[in-house]
Amino acid sequence: MERRRPELVSTLAVRHLNVLERLWRAAKRSGVVMGVVLLLGNVSLVFFPIPHIHLCLFPLAFVLGPIIAFVSWRDRVLLPQTDLPCPRCNENVTIPEGLGGWPARANCNACAAMVELNGA
Ligand SMILES: [Zn+2]
Repeated sequence: MERRRPELVSTLAVRHLNVLERLWRAAKRSGVVMGVVLLLGNVSLVFFPIPHIHLCLFPLAFVLGPIIAFVSWRDRVLLPQTDLPCPRCNENVTIPEGLGGWPARANCNACAAMVELNGA
């Protein structure tokens, strides 16, 4: 039995990112994640003098940062905010502004079906 979902063809005006924009976006996201985790590590070390927090959060920051950068680097387009009909229940699914693709995924608020958008 084939579990293929119904397909719908829509036209969206996506914004293609060039290499510099993709690099800048990846660096910003990586820097934010690493900065927040390092800040949490330092603040928690002040309030909770347990060395394990310090020892675990700092390597975690330097592992999470490149992973976030790689995931951000893979996004080649940014989608505009739009509403698309859900292929299952036909309610509107709101695609948030700046969602990266491809594939871009959003969930229907009515039936919780995942809507996947692919470039053509
Ligand atoms: Zn739905």
